[in-house]
Amino acid sequence: MIEIKDLHKSYQMGKNSLHVLKGIDFTVKEGEFVSIMGSSGSGKSTLLNIIGILDEADSGTYTLDSVPIKNLNETIASRYRNKFLGFVFQSFNLINYKSALDNVALPLYYQGVGRKERMERSMYYLEKVGLANWAKHLPSEMSGGQKQRVAIARALAADPKVLLADEPTGALDTKTSYEVMELIQQINDEGKTVLIVTHESDIAEMTKRIVFLKDGQIESDKPVNQVRASEYV
Ligand code: ATP
Ligand code: MG
Repeated sequence: MIEIKDLHKSYQMGKNSLHVLKGIDFTVKEGEFVSIMGSSGSGKSTLLNIIGILDEADSGTYTLDSVPIKNLNETIASRYRNKFLGFVFQSFNLINYKSALDNVALPLYYQGVGRKERMERSMYYLEKVGLANWAKHLPSEMSGGQKQRVAIARALAADPKVLLADEPTGALDTKTSYEVMELIQQINDEGKTVLIVTHESDIAEMTKRIVFLKDGQIESDKPVNQVRASEYV
């Protein structure tokens, strides 16, 4: 599903260059549930953004569902994002003046799905995340956990190949974090490929495979039962 070979990424800041990813080799098969850990600044978001076609590497190769991702113009990049990927962010990124249902429907709107089918499919996903009764509510009327559920429903609405989540529980309390992770586990159980970034070992241990980034490289990449995530934080 995801194949990355010898990926490098630097950021330029004036005369200085910061080498963030220094030769990443990383493969994710369909149906996997992977967490990426590492200290702040280790390049987790940079890697996830490249996988999400929100950013591009300087060198190395990346193929997503057998499609080489390289030198895409913004039109093609956004078409691939819509087709392949669903995104969940720490800060939910919902549109505040739109209802929960309309937020979920947004990716379908961009795909040109007609209104009736859009609303039906969005309702299906709102039900899936346990928020059918909140369809007409605005994000400002919802708790953090509810907002993240709406964001998860929105990420799933267009039935992406891969769900990408950057610190999906970063803004939630412990109990709500576990509830949101249980929902993400359920989504993976149903077959979706899921990749999350987290710095919390308890959260990483709810996935099936843990990848640690250190100094721009992968220090460890193991099934969850062969690693103690807390050793790395
Ligand atoms: P955190 O846990 O704090 O979210 P992270 O592992 O996600 O950290 P990144 O956001 O990938 O880390 O950043 C890696 C390094 O690259 C950091 O030193 C950061 O300051 C730098 N960086 C990230 N984005 C940019 C950018 N757009 N321009 C310049 N430097 C950047
Ligand atoms: Mg980050």
